[in-house]
Amino acid sequence: MNRHRRDFLKTAGAVATLPLLASSARGSDAPPAGKESFGCLVDLTLCVGCRKCEEACNRINALPEPPEPFDDPFVLDRRRQLQPTEFTVVNRFHTGRLDERNRAIPVFVKTQCMHCLKPACVSACIVGALQRRNDGAVFYDVSKCIGCRYCMIACPFQVPKYEYADPVTPRVRKCTFCADVISREGGKPACAAICPVEALTFGRRDKLLELARQRIRSDPGRYIDRIYGEHEVGGTGWLYLSGEPFEKLGFLDLPSRPVPQLTEAIQHGLFSFMWAPLTLFGILGGAMWLTRSGSHLKEDD
Ligand code: SF4
Ligand code: SF4
Ligand code: SF4
Repeated sequence: MNRHRRDFLKTAGAVATLPLLASSARGSDAPPAGKESFGCLVDLTLCVGCRKCEEACNRINALPEPPEPFDDPFVLDRRRQLQPTEFTVVNRFHTGRLDERNRAIPVFVKTQCMHCLKPACVSACIVGALQRRNDGAVFYDVSKCIGCRYCMIACPFQVPKYEYADPVTPRVRKCTFCADVISREGGKPACAAICPVEALTFGRRDKLLELARQRIRSDPGRYIDRIYGEHEVGGTGWLYLSGEPFEKLGFLDLPSRPVPQLTEAIQHGLFSFMWAPLTLFGILGGAMWLTRSGSHLKEDD
């Protein structure tokens, strides 16, 4: 086989994979959030900002030690974002509420991947490196990742982070929902297992919603009547209860429509739009190759 034919076959192979990529981009045909789907209820009225959850997450994921120790209270003086080396962070907010001695009452907010029921990251990943499992964990497979970082653009919560500092084998990094642990009978995510005040309740998502409604019903003065994550972007595995409006605590006001419905419409539109020109280029390329091989045969003769 001469070089031109090999080149043509390579190109044809690459073109042939595009429909596969297009079908992979439909990744949000994820399993429905059935009864087996797990979640975690974060009760912000209970969290005391101790950051034990951060520490447990750091240990279970074998992440590098942070520059400041986990018991350093000054860390809470600045607003932190998730990092490639920090899959969960706790931030302190002040909403203007004061206690009886006129001191500001802080609210501590733990953030991590929300493990969406219809994850935009899964939908955006053209090679299927992100998948939603039946148990609710949105899982990243580094062996499939091509580093395009579409997941980072797609995520409405700005969760996935990239190891820009690693020039050789950079990965996308985010909370794994302790997928190995929760797949075992009775297993709990490390952060939920360690929380000393039970601000984090792990369990089946449908049961967590019942529990959250029950807490709101039984203590309406303590909670606002909203469960963040119940409907946002089609629902998320991680759910939040709060005594303060979520907008005051850095939560985004998101629509209930899943993001993949929008991104898929665009992706599929693009792929169908690309398909006609690609077919034309394929035919033209084939014709050129035949013409060129004919002239080579003549030269060889
Ligand atoms: S371990 Fe519990 S109380 Fe402590 S910061 Fe995390 S969620 Fe809040
Ligand atoms: S929060 Fe972002 S990274 Fe996590 S599952 Fe949802 S879309 Fe994906
Ligand atoms: S579920 Fe696991 S990976 Fe996610 S924040 Fe908790 S400890 Fe970290």
